Amino acid sequence: MRLLLVEDEIDIQSFLRRSLEEAGYEVGIAADGKTAQQLAVDGAFDILVVDLGLPDMDGIDLILKLRQRGVRAPVLILSARRSVDDRVRGLEQGGDDYLTKPFALAELLARLRNLFKRNSPSPAEATKLRVLDLELDLLRREATRAGRTLQLTQQEFVLLEYLCRNAGRVVTRSMILDQVWGIRIQTDTNVVDVHIYRLRGKVDGAGQQPLIRTMRGVGYVLRDR
Ligand code: CA
Repeated sequence: MRLLLVEDEIDIQSFLRRSLEEAGYEVGIAADGKTAQQLAVDGAFDILVVDLGLPDMDGIDLILKLRQRGVRAPVLILSARRSVDDRVRGLEQGGDDYLTKPFALAELLARLRNLFKRNSPSPAEATKLRVLDLELDLLRREATRAGRTLQLTQQEFVLLEYLCRNAGRVVTRSMILDQVWGIRIQTDTNVVDVHIYRLRGKVDGAGQQPLIRTMRGVGYVLRDR
């Protein structure tokens, strides 16, 4: 499970990094709002822990910006601001939970587990993905568009699943390489473009609204409306 920790206080940051890693999280770190935005938008994190007093912006503004940019992962606010007003504001403006400092590690971990559970679909829902008239059956590894079965290779299915999970968001070539092929380095090969081209030929049939859009120079997006 990937967690992004946004915290500028070095002591808390290193304590939390160590504790969260011991608890099994893969932890990304940002010490300011600008870095947090870059990481959160590119990184496909499952959960975010956000301090409110950041050096370059207020944590609430950061959360609002992330929501505007399509980051849907649950956010736990971790802040020294203890007033009811602060807590209500944090929860109303995109935070999913609020824990005040100083905090007990056991409580933080329990709240993270709860947040994650609350935001995970039930097993029955989790076996199907739907975007407009496109449906993926994750158990049968079958994709249909408007009821018509798509003849996809295993790799194409994984690629389409990744696009569906990020529907409405632009995914870059390097995100696709990382998430679908497990390649972290930047390569000059056009492997992604070739696979997208073939996938598009199967998904976007004649007379149908094209679902896979190219964002020139950036990447691809699967339309969700
Ligand atoms: Ca701070």
